[in-house]
Amino acid sequence: MPACGASRVTRRVVVIGGGVAGASVAYFLGQAGLQVTVVDAGMHAASHVPSALVNPVRGQSGGVDPRALAGLTLTWALLRDLEAQGLQVPHGRKGVLRPVPDDRTRVRFDRNLPPELAHHWLSPAFAPAPLATGWAHVLSLPQGGWLDGAALCRALLAASGAEVARDRVTAWDARTVTLGSGVTWDTEAVVWCGGSVGAGWAALEGTHRMGTLLTLDHTPSVVPLSFGAYLAPAAQGGVLGATFESPAPTWLPPYLPLASLGWLLGKGAALSDLSGVTVTGRWTGSRLSGLRAGRGGDGVWQLCGLGSKGFLLGPLLARGLAAEVSATLASRTG
Ligand SMILES: Cc1cc2nc3c(=O)[nH]c(=O)nc-3n(C[C@H](O)[C@H](O)[C@H](O)COP(=O)(O)OP(=O)(O)OC[C@H]3O[C@@H](n4cnc5c(N)ncnc54)[C@H](O)[C@@H]3O)c2cc1C
Repeated sequence: MPACGASRVTRRVVVIGGGVAGASVAYFLGQAGLQVTVVDAGMHAASHVPSALVNPVRGQSGGVDPRALAGLTLTWALLRDLEAQGLQVPHGRKGVLRPVPDDRTRVRFDRNLPPELAHHWLSPAFAPAPLATGWAHVLSLPQGGWLDGAALCRALLAASGAEVARDRVTAWDARTVTLGSGVTWDTEAVVWCGGSVGAGWAALEGTHRMGTLLTLDHTPSVVPLSFGAYLAPAAQGGVLGATFESPAPTWLPPYLPLASLGWLLGKGAALSDLSGVTVTGRWTGSRLSGLRAGRGGDGVWQLCGLGSKGFLLGPLLARGLAAEVSATLASRTG
């Protein structure tokens, strides 16, 4: 029993969630010299997607986030820094190919493409990947690529120097965090990065979208292909995936209805020739939309709602948030 008047255990900064958002925040806070504790439930991290695209041109509308170039530049720079520290993250930087079905889609994509983003259009016959028939044009994005999500999170946490606790946080406010084990920590700052599953547990508002990747024994193309779904290399073999289930107001346990499996295989066959490719398994996850990056009215910092851009923008937004947290703590002590 603690002596009368003894204070509770304190932590300088507590980050809730160890996906790409939380692991990146921990990494940049660590770089700023802050002592960080990450609490992660170890369940349902969307960031553990076996192969994620770092793709600046989004979806079937070809939208380009104004931060896309800065985001992908930082993500690749991080990988280089992690590798320099001996932390390997399987990835490929051979670009991303976006086949489009018709001239109208090409015009729509072109309207969104900023000149500073490297890109060029190819005829499907000359694309550096075996495309299925029926595509009108192929947009080549040489700065894109793919990476192993779980390996990136592990490497960021290792490099951050953070203490990592495997537990579920059951309650928190700006200065305290209570764990499932019943322990309560006092802290100077709380950063919530709970993603889709955490928002579901906490009954926070958001739009959740589930998707599935089929893992493949090999990939038909070393350059990822993306339109409707994506085919990409992975640390072992390849993946065919998409986030395609209907949006839901809360997190749902992972599932893959048979109709969705058929839909996904159809999208894959529309991208490339899948004959000779064997499906070795599947991974299902849920992502949260509705970006929140900053300090809430309750004083808790948040980075969540990264949607389908977790690996494009997660580290960039985490760096900005970590700088704000660190400046706030410095102003309190200074
Ligand atoms: C099928 C699919 C394919 C995708 N493909 C891509 C892609 O190609 N490119 C791309 O950029 N993005 C992609 N995404 C999106 C990307 O995965 C997400 O944007 C990103 O991973 C979200 O990261 P996060 O850290 O916010 O959340 P998560 O990765 O979900 O991490 C949240 C973590 O917090 C933990 N947690 C939650 N609540 C608590 C609590 N109370 N206490 C303790 N721990 C808690 C959870 O257990 C989890 O480990 C894809 C998503 C899916 C589902």
